[in-house]
Amino acid sequence: MHQLTLAEIARGLADKKFSSEELTKTLLARIAQLDPQLNSFITLTEDLAIEQAKAADARRANGESGALLGAPIAHKDLFCTLGVRTSCASKMLDNFKAPYDATVVAKLAEAGAVSLGKTNMDEFAMGSANESSYYGAVKNPWNLEHVPGGSSGGSAAAVAARLLPAATGTDTGGSIRQPAALTNLTGLKPTYGRVSRWGMIAYASSLDQGGPLARTAEDCAILLQGMAGFDPKDSTSIDEPVPNFSADLNTSLKGLRIGVPAEFFSEGLDPRIAELVHNSIKELEKLGAVIKTISLPNMQHAIPAYYVIAPAEASSNLSRFDGVRFGHRCEDPKDLTDLYKRSRAEGFGPEVQRRILVGAYALSAGYYDAYYLQAQKIRRLIKNDFVAAFNEVDVILGPTTPNPAWKIGAKNSDPVSAYLEDVYTITANLAGLPGLSMPAGFVDGLPVGVQLLAPYFQEGRLLNVAHQYQLNTDWHTRSPAGF
Ligand code: GLN
Repeated sequence: MHQLTLAEIARGLADKKFSSEELTKTLLARIAQLDPQLNSFITLTEDLAIEQAKAADARRANGESGALLGAPIAHKDLFCTLGVRTSCASKMLDNFKAPYDATVVAKLAEAGAVSLGKTNMDEFAMGSANESSYYGAVKNPWNLEHVPGGSSGGSAAAVAARLLPAATGTDTGGSIRQPAALTNLTGLKPTYGRVSRWGMIAYASSLDQGGPLARTAEDCAILLQGMAGFDPKDSTSIDEPVPNFSADLNTSLKGLRIGVPAEFFSEGLDPRIAELVHNSIKELEKLGAVIKTISLPNMQHAIPAYYVIAPAEASSNLSRFDGVRFGHRCEDPKDLTDLYKRSRAEGFGPEVQRRILVGAYALSAGYYDAYYLQAQKIRRLIKNDFVAAFNEVDVILGPTTPNPAWKIGAKNSDPVSAYLEDVYTITANLAGLPGLSMPAGFVDGLPVGVQLLAPYFQEGRLLNVAHQYQLNTDWHTRSPAGF
């Protein structure tokens, strides 16, 4: 039963082949047995899950239907969950039980999804390896010595290991697409504003966006359907109609114009990944797509701009965690300054502290113009590059990451080398565009992803291209040995 996709589960439940309660119990047992190897969950909510599963079964018995009704999922541990610990994988919030559900959590619960628990992540979503969690590193099920990517690494490892069919993630600079690539999943970062950020603990508010991680594009469409929509509680939520994301899955790719940016194949890309990306291009050509080389001339400035903007916003967002209003409080403070200083020094891990320092510096008087303002200008140039490119092509294709998953600990002494892994993903966040990563082959037994980008609100087009590709390839069906 654990091999079933969301789409297959929906059919199985509708045909009464099994109940949501049976499925939920099977997966909870599988998590208890296998997750100790992976560390993909921070909190399991077994009782709540069984309660939700029973309720979903009762709703089906009453004639209700729906693709998510009774479907097991899990939430990245930065989505607030009423009465359940929401830690952001930080000591700072180790004892925080949210007093409300995030909009995404509430919407999925309403649709009847069954939440099995909260998944591990990089502390405050800062990272690309899921090594900065207060609860320990997550292991990649394809090779337990390697990272699963981050920051949604727990969601990715759990879904890749067939502990559950799909999970939520968030993507500020690649944290859905990159772990999807490194664990052989399909992951979608929607257009900025498509999915409500209310109740999603903020890292960099102008870049953060929630989205689905699953094994297939078809399943991403199902989960996204439950997550998306205007939310008056989020001032950056966009009041755009939500299309049926599954409606275009079967549209033919004949005549689809795919742009391949020359800059995506420059120095730093593992040549074996380049070859797999070219294979995927050939496959899509066979399906009728027309390939065109394009240019995103400002791409080389994306990493420096992102690593100014994201830490700047983080330093502001994380100021609320001071041991008074929120978060860990130190023992026996001698005065208020001591309380702030020690609470924050004890509560935040080294990567979070590094980002706060970088961000506070970039925003400080005298440096603001040189760093933050410059970075915002670059952001606009990058967005303009995409607008120009999408005048000529329908989607953009390239690698998701320059390298496959690295060994746990390999980049610990050099944070910048980890930042460079985001080179292909962060442009979509800077521009606010939707992006998807899909499985495209293996290098040394480790999965490789291909990334697709589309114009604003064209998530359906991304899902369509990925689904057509998946109908004609079997990379996404491969599962890691031992799981
Ligand atoms: N790796 C990037 C960072 O560390 C992106 C993280 C994310 O998307 N949350 O900032």
